[in-house]
Amino acid sequence: MNYRAAVFHDTEHITIQTKEVRKPGPKEVLIRVRACGVCGTDLHLYHGAPGSASATPPVVLGHEFAGEVTETGSDVTDLRSGDQVTVDPNLACGDCWYCRNGERNLCSNLTAIGVNFDGGFAEYCLVPFSQVYRFDRPVSHHHAAMAEPLACCLHGIDRVALKQGQTVAVVGCGAIGLIMVQLAFLGGASRVYASDPVAKRRDLAEQLGAVPVDPGRQELPTVIRRDIPEGVDSAVECAGNPAAMLQAFQSVRRGGTVLLFSVPEADAVLNVPVYDIYFRELRILGSFTNPATQGRAVDLVSSGRIQLEQLISHQLPLESIKDAFRLFGKPDAIKIVVAL
Ligand SMILES: [Zn+2]
Ligand SMILES: [Zn+2]
Repeated sequence: MNYRAAVFHDTEHITIQTKEVRKPGPKEVLIRVRACGVCGTDLHLYHGAPGSASATPPVVLGHEFAGEVTETGSDVTDLRSGDQVTVDPNLACGDCWYCRNGERNLCSNLTAIGVNFDGGFAEYCLVPFSQVYRFDRPVSHHHAAMAEPLACCLHGIDRVALKQGQTVAVVGCGAIGLIMVQLAFLGGASRVYASDPVAKRRDLAEQLGAVPVDPGRQELPTVIRRDIPEGVDSAVECAGNPAAMLQAFQSVRRGGTVLLFSVPEADAVLNVPVYDIYFRELRILGSFTNPATQGRAVDLVSSGRIQLEQLISHQLPLESIKDAFRLFGKPDAIKIVVAL
């Protein structure tokens, strides 16, 4: 049986090709992909920028995908044909110092489906059983595909260790920022400020309960300090530019937490007064991928307690993958999903 796949060959060179479906090995699962989200990492790889990963072309990109199981290997007993599933794309080696010490996302030999192995911008994808997560009740495939970015956000929010009743600022309200707003509220935040220069994104953040801030008109730290003179307990930066990162630093109170969540340009440098970190005793955190959070993300999507529909701004067919990539980052684009 043949299927269509968007194959990445080289910088800005992707073609739709016909490939032949391979039979699953004993521990593999064949998935009929129905939806695959476009992530900043796909764009980094497509444009040949050093981002969070380096690809092994020719390869099918796309690591935020969901679909149905169509065939399972002989050793796979927990899944059957027709099961609705999504995939944790990150493959830790299991042998290195980090894997042996329980920090699999920091694995020295980390590879990923959709980066080093064929991913979800294709009608079919063959994946190791260890990476597959089943939804126990039916959800939209588009929502299911968002379990992966949600899992990454869960790790970030875990790192912040928010306490109920605390206040949060989310800087940047793309799909990730709008998920972070929701996770902050689910985690018990009493107030969430959400800043973005794009009106549509601010409107969505406001619908989700956040106080919207237009950084083109008002400085986020100024708006926050009108309400809370000390500043917020935590700031979550999801914008990817140093100016936004600086706003996050300036928004938190003494002893506050700054989570730098976005994938910045590889050569981006942040000009933060070091004395400020010392004197205000700031906690500065990074967050990398989704260690052991995919299952919780799947359960959250299943629960319906996280709003995903409003976040999906564009659905495109596989043939339009280059358009999907071109749309990424545009003001009216939030989450772009390739429907298969
Ligand atoms: Zn991603
Ligand atoms: Zn490892």
